[in-house]
Amino acid sequence: MQKERVIIIGSGPAGMAAAIYVGRAALSPLVITGNQPGGQISITYEVENYPGLYNPESTPTGPEMVQIMQQQAEHFGARFAYEEVTEVELRSGPPFTIKTHAQTYVADAVIVTAGASPKHLDVPGETEFIGRGVSYCGTCDGFFFRGKDVVVVGGGDSAMEEGIFLTKFANNVTVIHRRDSLRAGATLQRRAFTNAKMNFIWDTVIEEIQGNGVVTGVQLRNVQTGEAKAMPTDGVFIFVGHYPNSKFLEGQLAMDEHGYVITDEFMRTNVAGVYAAGEIQDPHYRQIATSVGQGVAAAMQLERWLSAQE
Ligand code: NAP
Repeated sequence: MQKERVIIIGSGPAGMAAAIYVGRAALSPLVITGNQPGGQISITYEVENYPGLYNPESTPTGPEMVQIMQQQAEHFGARFAYEEVTEVELRSGPPFTIKTHAQTYVADAVIVTAGASPKHLDVPGETEFIGRGVSYCGTCDGFFFRGKDVVVVGGGDSAMEEGIFLTKFANNVTVIHRRDSLRAGATLQRRAFTNAKMNFIWDTVIEEIQGNGVVTGVQLRNVQTGEAKAMPTDGVFIFVGHYPNSKFLEGQLAMDEHGYVITDEFMRTNVAGVYAAGEIQDPHYRQIATSVGQGVAAAMQLERWLSAQE
């Protein structure tokens, strides 16, 4: 059993920001990274909306930001364990118990920043062809689609950003959206509409992903007319939102009906000494900047709470 003062579960922007602030409070936090160190930005191509990092010559990439944030946290005394949390006992604490495959930890205070994961479409063929034409990350897999035709599902910022990125490799990127207008912000919409390699199919859903070892096509249905048609494609990139990574917290922290951890304006959960920040508790903003802000707030509140306990 390893005894810690503060454990931060998750290493995305919220976790990194919390680690920097808890580190600067001389509390030497342990960050348990999860199975994707850096979280979702580690698979983000370019970050151009984070204040203070604008560079017209060279936009910083997600992995570069992760590296800088981690170096900054380590500089202030944070330590990183490359493990995944499997189980927690929070209700009966403090001290709080946190288990990974490798270790059991106890901590006086905890910040949960376990983030969110991409939603699936839940149509036939989707799971079968993951890694063989079905992907949830253009940045990761775009390279394999050089000179090919792909479809992008969704109408939000992720779908447009990733779709535009995919045009670097693919011949054609066809966006399939269930409505007749996009949810994405104006800048990304403009870029998508003016990109010669991007096409749009409106009011349409994918009902099946088909293939033969690898993806060869999709079965579409127009939700207005009911018309069904098959469309050949080499890849299906799905960006239809996210769900919080909160399964391991069930029964331990209060959550809403979608599994988002409930916090108050001080990032406090319903268990004193346990805080949550970033996409595990925020279904609304989901920006690097907002997650960073929430991580900072959680860290400051935790430090005050620990001081008051002494
Ligand atoms: P999102 O904004 O929730 O968009 C999801 C899209 O998928 C929507 O267009 C939605 O359609 C569609 N959709 C949902 N379920 C579907 C289903 N079962 N079948 C077909 N389509 C479905 O998710 P997101 O794009 O991942 O963005 C999440 C958050 O991150 C947002 O706040 C976004 O602003 C932010 N983000 C920002 C940036 C940036 O600023 N550069 C980049 C990426 C993400 P409807 O529109 O009809 O609901």
